[in-house]
Amino acid sequence: MKINSSLSGLGPELIAKHIIKELGLNIREPTDLYYVACRLNIVVRKKKIAKGILGACKVVGLKRLVIIDPEIVNIGRERFTLAHEIGHIVLRHGMRCCRKEDFFWDSKKTNIEHDANLFAAELLMPTDSLKDIAQQKDITLDLIEEIASERNVSKGTQGDGSFVLT
Ligand SMILES: [Zn+2]
Repeated sequence: MKINSSLSGLGPELIAKHIIKELGLNIREPTDLYYVACRLNIVVRKKKIAKGILGACKVVGLKRLVIIDPEIVNIGRERFTLAHEIGHIVLRHGMRCCRKEDFFWDSKKTNIEHDANLFAAELLMPTDSLKDIAQQKDITLDLIEEIASERNVSKGTQGDGSFVLT
């Protein structure tokens, strides 16, 4: 699948939705990020990058590379890191080295890290699939936890109590 330049005017969530649709992903199942990366011609490697860096990405010519810290033990965090780095590549952010704080969810932030988080959240927990669930059940913290663990996405809260995907 080509990362089409016509996507560049769209927001991160819409671009993630577009990719889900184009690749025919089943939004009711955990997103297979390695499949997504492969279809986008992104090579994924697990390698220690530098102290404090959880994920990095770069594009050199036609080569697209994502590197994930192998010491990330939480599978949900690893998946979010990978989805976030795929986001940087798809959103054409150039080379990035991302630290823990770059993955914090802060709706007040409007920067490329936040855009990569929006992309990752949509890819891992497509809003369309959540709408289906919300119509059937009341949204509770238990339900969010249930969905997050079903989809291998970790859920956490920051010190101020705001919701974060980590
Ligand atoms: Zn980042």
